[in-house]
Amino acid sequence: MTTASEGTAKEALIDALRRRGGRVTSQRLVINEILRELGRHATAEEIRERVEVHLPNVSLPTVYSTLELFEELGIVRSFRGGDGVTLYDPRTDPHPHLICESCGVATDLEAPLDLAGAIEAAKGAGFSPRTADLVVTGLCHSCASQA
Ligand SMILES: [Zn+2]
Ligand SMILES: [Zn+2]
Repeated sequence: MTTASEGTAKEALIDALRRRGGRVTSQRLVINEILRELGRHATAEEIRERVEVHLPNVSLPTVYSTLELFEELGIVRSFRGGDGVTLYDPRTDPHPHLICESCGVATDLEAPLDLAGAIEAAKGAGFSPRTADLVVTGLCHSCASQA
């Protein structure tokens, strides 16, 4: 099962790796596929569990270093979720997040906030920005209704 978007994500990874002189390994390809398949925020541990189905014996440090590389390549973003856990986001354009302080779920917030503009302004101030984040913390709908 290969959709057009998965094919594109795979090509984007291969292109990015070649530009940097990085090797295209099955591990890297599978981790990238899992990220696109999940299509949501995930921890390295969750990603490793899914990768294991395809490639047994993939260690958590390998998953972390691959995700770090992907972040440098600009094909994944990381941000801090609830409890300070690092979440990986297959969506790479700067966008705000809602983080529930009770269950830890992190969702994208669709709001007209100019995070790309903040990055441009940072560059204008002589800063070398990596990313811009905006996080709204509180309670998600289901946790708030249980309170
Ligand atoms: Zn919640
Ligand atoms: Zn997101």
